[in-house]
Amino acid sequence: MLRTIKDIDIDGKRVFIRCDFNVPKDEFGNITDDRRIRAALHTIRYCIDRECRIILASHYERPEPGKYEEKYSLRPIAKRLHTLLKIKNELYMANDVVGPDAKEKASKLQPGDILMLENLRYEAGETANDETFAKELASFADVYINDAFGACHRKHASIYAIAMQFDKEHKAAGFLLSKEVNFFSKVLEDPIRPFIAVVGGSKVSGKLQALNNLLNKVDKVIIGGGMAFTFLKAQGYEIGKSLVEDDLIDEARDIMEKAHSLGVKFYLPVDFVVAPEFSENTAVKYLPSQEIPHDWMGLDTGPASSRLFREVLNDAQTIIWNGPMGVYEMDKFSKGSLMMSHHIAETHATTIVGGGDTADVAQRAGDVDEMTFVSTGGGASLKLIEGVKLPGIEALEK
Ligand code: AMP
Repeated sequence: MLRTIKDIDIDGKRVFIRCDFNVPKDEFGNITDDRRIRAALHTIRYCIDRECRIILASHYERPEPGKYEEKYSLRPIAKRLHTLLKIKNELYMANDVVGPDAKEKASKLQPGDILMLENLRYEAGETANDETFAKELASFADVYINDAFGACHRKHASIYAIAMQFDKEHKAAGFLLSKEVNFFSKVLEDPIRPFIAVVGGSKVSGKLQALNNLLNKVDKVIIGGGMAFTFLKAQGYEIGKSLVEDDLIDEARDIMEKAHSLGVKFYLPVDFVVAPEFSENTAVKYLPSQEIPHDWMGLDTGPASSRLFREVLNDAQTIIWNGPMGVYEMDKFSKGSLMMSHHIAETHATTIVGGGDTADVAQRAGDVDEMTFVSTGGGASLKLIEGVKLPGIEALEK
């Protein structure tokens, strides 16, 4: 069982909390979705209430190490966090990660104070899982808390090497991390049936292992998105210029055969929104999957597929959804994904939405509140579905 912050003594201690504040911003630098910041509040408030001196750390996107570019700074995130925390105390922002400014500000913290370090990826040691860098980070605190579910699948210094610097009494999972992990493991180990997986997104290759693992657990699988075409081609259909992975056609066939032999019902889209080119300003047609013209491509699932999938989901008790049904970023090709979100939200099932793009679809569809659980981590949740132990969890247990 994963040890959580409640299982260790943190009262009055210096606590290092690794968060995942990697939130999307628009072209003006405004935060467009602060769910990941809000999800961190629980653990931070718990530490404030226990008179801890709190050090917060996160990465933000992919800056070039050593180059402090402002667009990668965590400063706007610290500001939003301060607003959401509704505390009178200041939230101190360091100008560096483990440099003199961070060290000086950390040394002056009073009980209940918070210091946010700059973007961890400004330092090359972060992604290299460098021990020296991890030791510098660890020197800020007596206790290490990992609450960065969205980054737990990466073996980076602030996730892995740092945890090795603390013994079991001085490291634990934060509330968000433990909630995410417990939710996925409960559903995957002991689902209420019928259990349905809805899998979309661009490619089969990214979800191959997840599909294989899911087949052993679910009653039905619905496939959408670009990956559907590799399966349709494996069945011998003309798929035109649609996205396809020719080298995975055999794998796709094996997956369908495995589903058949396990008695798992396997559903592919029966129609598509097709276009002659990958563009928002193009002509479209709504055609059955067997009628895709050879020089057109499928960019979204069509209305007949939406109705079929709704029927398939009707008796679900548990649904896990990962990956959009089409190129939802373009309005013209977003309907299949939005309809899928509505259908899932309308069921009476326990519904789990797996991070990233999929959470974004549910958000645009206005369905987030109707879902049982929307994960804050795309890659990490996929790893859990694959049945892989996350490095971040492993390091907490070692
Ligand atoms: P993934 O990162 O594998 O979950 O894939 C998400 C991406 O798949 C989104 O950016 C979608 O635009 C893209 N996608 C979904 N359906 C298609 C399609 N039919 N053709 C090309 N790309 C697609």
